[in-house]
Amino acid sequence: MQSWVQLRDMKAETWKKKRAYSDAELALALAILEDLKAGVDLNVSQRDHPKPDGGGFIPKHALVAVYYQMVDSGQWEEDEALLLKIRMKPTRTLSGVTTVTVLTDDQPCPGTCIFCPQETDLPKSYLSEEPGAKRALENAFDPYAQVSNRIKALRAVGHPTDKIELLILGGSFNAYPKTYQEWFVRRCFDAMNEVNPEDDPNFESLPEAQARNVHAQHRNVGLVVETRPDLIARADLAWFRYLGVTKVQMGAQSLDDHILEINQRGHTTAETLRAVTLLRAGGFKIVLHWMPNLLGATPKSDREDFKRLWEDSTYGPDEIKIYPCQLLEGTVLYDIWQQGGYQPYSEATLLDLIADLKTTVPRHCRINRIIRDIPSTYVVAGNKNTSLRQDIQREMKRRNTHCECIRCREVRQQNVTAGTVTLHDLVYHPAHAEEHFLSFDTPDDKLAGFLRLSLPEDTTRTGITDLEDAAIIREVHVYGQSLEVGEARSGIAQHSGLGTNLIEEAEKIALENGFKKLAVIAAVGTRAYYADRGFSMGKYYMLKDL
Ligand code: SF4
Ligand SMILES: [Zn+2]
Repeated sequence: MQSWVQLRDMKAETWKKKRAYSDAELALALAILEDLKAGVDLNVSQRDHPKPDGGGFIPKHALVAVYYQMVDSGQWEEDEALLLKIRMKPTRTLSGVTTVTVLTDDQPCPGTCIFCPQETDLPKSYLSEEPGAKRALENAFDPYAQVSNRIKALRAVGHPTDKIELLILGGSFNAYPKTYQEWFVRRCFDAMNEVNPEDDPNFESLPEAQARNVHAQHRNVGLVVETRPDLIARADLAWFRYLGVTKVQMGAQSLDDHILEINQRGHTTAETLRAVTLLRAGGFKIVLHWMPNLLGATPKSDREDFKRLWEDSTYGPDEIKIYPCQLLEGTVLYDIWQQGGYQPYSEATLLDLIADLKTTVPRHCRINRIIRDIPSTYVVAGNKNTSLRQDIQREMKRRNTHCECIRCREVRQQNVTAGTVTLHDLVYHPAHAEEHFLSFDTPDDKLAGFLRLSLPEDTTRTGITDLEDAAIIREVHVYGQSLEVGEARSGIAQHSGLGTNLIEEAEKIALENGFKKLAVIAAVGTRAYYADRGFSMGKYYMLKDL
């Protein structure tokens, strides 16, 4: 059998071959682009300019390559509308923000979760055939190379790379030595800033690299780290802000202490709740992983467990990943299964369960994922269907039920004009805060943009001076590509009108509730956007007096 390294090299070879264009092909690509600029339909133009040797049509990646040649040489202005037509996978960046995932190196995780795989040379729980892990291995876990190569690859297929959400996965991020954490983040910024490729340690500090990024070509509009609930302490909040973190992912897995215990998660539900409360008080966006089918769970207990996420005075995550427990070889759970002590749900049971759960997800939450991207060859028994999400959607259609989560309601290719959307304020009460989910919805109930405003019960909980007496904007998100061409685009909120309106509404609500100032957890690359709207930089947050 070929190793994955050989396979990767073969793939890279074919990729390169496919992308070596002849002069004739380049000329044809240019002719097609000019047609598109003149309003000709892409398919029509591709048919009008076939390859000379009868080799089919000029592919989109050739169009993208020529587009960038023209832009880079200064002959053409950037033309987003044109790029949109020739882009290869438009859905990946629908929200206008491109996610770049990087992995930290394989330092040991202190956890002993019974379902967790450990491969040599990878952070615990990661598998070398998972796409993200694969890319990290190819770059030897070097943060600069990972970010830089990913940006290049995305650009080559026509994705915008001006707004980058950086997702740092791997072990529990804040379990690494602080020097490593800081170095890792600085190198990611160096790569987004396209400076210091050889890592001259005296080149500049992390704050300097961040300051450079405020106006860089690839601006960081979000920084996500993952960790365990028991590793979040008060002091981590300021440290995370120093690094530029805006969102934290944690494995909650279950909200039942007995289940956590027998699966050897090593933390309690009280610790999860405490972590969520602290992070919310610090204005961070919160992503929780939740796992049905753990040892000891039944479909009935999973239904009960899922409800606990949304009860008053509890977790109320902003985003969730539903990762059904998967039975993998080499884990403790595998041994238990062999002895008859564990049974994975069948595909049908899992499908029925998740189709039910999806209808109960509140409108302020986004379901990011439904199954982990594990190649089915790793899975020993139970569900091996990696397209379960689509099957669930089909099943829900058949049942005529709906998921109202953010992801299911995001406006897609639709055009949105400010006049047609309605403002809604969804209020809910997770532990120790009142949350306002302000949204602009279209007449057919699609989501054009939203803002998360948090009114903390105790503004001194974090110990961060910036946040005293402050209400906090935790997220502003206005969907990008659905906007009509010609709309102003700046910062994270592409549609300056909707973003500004949401912020003004948040100011009003904060003031009515007696807060003296408004803080926003602004990613480095969105600072200019908030500065334009009257915010100024505090120590860790951007602030505005009300
Ligand atoms: S904490 Fe995460 S990485 Fe560590 S053992 Fe548990 S599941 Fe695996
Ligand atoms: Zn949904």
